[in-house]
Amino acid sequence: LEPLYSFMIRLRLPGGLMTPEQWIGLYHIAGKYSTGTIKITTRQTIQLHGILKSHTKPTISAFNTLHLDSIAACGDVNRNVTCASHPKESPLHEEIYQFAREISAYHLPKTRGYYEIWMDAEKLAETTEEDPLYQDRYLPRKFKIGIAIPPNNDIDVFINDLGLIAIIEDGILKGYNFAAGGGLGSTHGNPATYARLGSMLGYVPREKALKAIYEVITVQRDFGNRSDRKQARLKYTIDKMGVDQYREEVEKRCGFQFEPARPYTFTSRKDAYGWSQNHEGKWYYTLFVENGRVLDEKGYPLKTGLLKVAETGKANFRFTCNQNLILSDIADEDKAAITDILTAHGIIQSTSGASAIRKNAMACVALNTCGLALAEAQRYLPTLITKLEPVLQKHQLQDEDIIVRMTGCPNGCGRSPNAEIGFVGTALGKYNLHLGGDRLGSRLNTKYKESLDERQIIDTLDELFGIYVKERMPEETFGDFSQRKWIDPTPNL
Ligand code: SF4
Repeated sequence: LEPLYSFMIRLRLPGGLMTPEQWIGLYHIAGKYSTGTIKITTRQTIQLHGILKSHTKPTISAFNTLHLDSIAACGDVNRNVTCASHPKESPLHEEIYQFAREISAYHLPKTRGYYEIWMDAEKLAETTEEDPLYQDRYLPRKFKIGIAIPPNNDIDVFINDLGLIAIIEDGILKGYNFAAGGGLGSTHGNPATYARLGSMLGYVPREKALKAIYEVITVQRDFGNRSDRKQARLKYTIDKMGVDQYREEVEKRCGFQFEPARPYTFTSRKDAYGWSQNHEGKWYYTLFVENGRVLDEKGYPLKTGLLKVAETGKANFRFTCNQNLILSDIADEDKAAITDILTAHGIIQSTSGASAIRKNAMACVALNTCGLALAEAQRYLPTLITKLEPVLQKHQLQDEDIIVRMTGCPNGCGRSPNAEIGFVGTALGKYNLHLGGDRLGSRLNTKYKESLDERQIIDTLDELFGIYVKERMPEETFGDFSQRKWIDPTPNL
């Protein structure tokens, strides 16, 4: 008898957009073949868990009828391309979203194996397919690309293998700053592995950006470590070669040089909850989805409410890298009907009623679905936050946008290494506490205490919050204060 294998399926969804028809289809596929929970990931896409082996093919076929696929959503290839999700902030959002789709399509593997295996497509030829990018070897490891539109760093641009920062001058998209070599994963007890934020390669005008992206990938393909998977990500290649040599190799292949990085400013990393209107007069509602889990719970029928919204056909579904959802492109005359549905299902109340710390928190899936997990994350973080809320209240910090993230192991899927407060699971019920990440995602945190249980976490943070309130400088965030006070008192010049 075969073991009861079950699988996770992740969609490729560059820029994180779904039509209402696709959401309805997803709703039914999730109910029929998976645990039923629709998980919005930290990379702006969707995962379904608990798919039995015999259900994998019907699931993928069903997605195909919705024009959705999971090609290159996993594996040693360019993964899902993320892009800024706040449409209100820039009239250029649509253009950059289309560029995210173009990057994704351009760097897809050329193989038709996906269709032959999952859709019973006819095998065209016995000969090997030509693939100039991946050739016969693919990449040494996964490769992640994201595009941020300042002033919001909602995609956490520096954690990508290649992060693009849109440079907009006088309302015109000029090009992108390229930051390469980000990645947050590490392994407990292996100092050769570490979290790293991207290093600036320089600026590239928009018309040359696709070529530069392609060659950043080919240099990693050719120079990346293929003998040790734990040293195979681009961050290690860049540290081995040095940023300058990596840049020179890319420039040689491109036939042009990077220009000096252009100025940009990030002022936020969070989602803009609630209603907003864009330059075309369309409405957007950003709703809080705790840890990206869309399901019906007792007293909170989120999944049903979103199905009702989709059934109106009057809102698109856009996912954020903070695991939230933006109901988008809503016409003025449809706003009231959508509001009624959201209110009837408690969605508006849930979004407006959640505390600041809860709305800024994030956790990976961890136990019981991730085989690498050492501890709980998404199932436990909400409980821990409930216990931390009165502590924050006691110190009158309840309105602070402190960024807390938790992962069930050091792989960093929930991006804890660049949170202001990061928890990394070490064993069941035990977490390393990391402090000192900044609010905007441009500084990593550092381990402060090891293997704390819940009581120790609460007591430690109670004490630290008290010191923060007494000693902080005006406007100083908890992350900046922690860095200065407990991690590195050297002034950040
Ligand atoms: Fe699994 Fe670790 Fe990633 Fe969490 S961070 S999803 S536990 S691999």
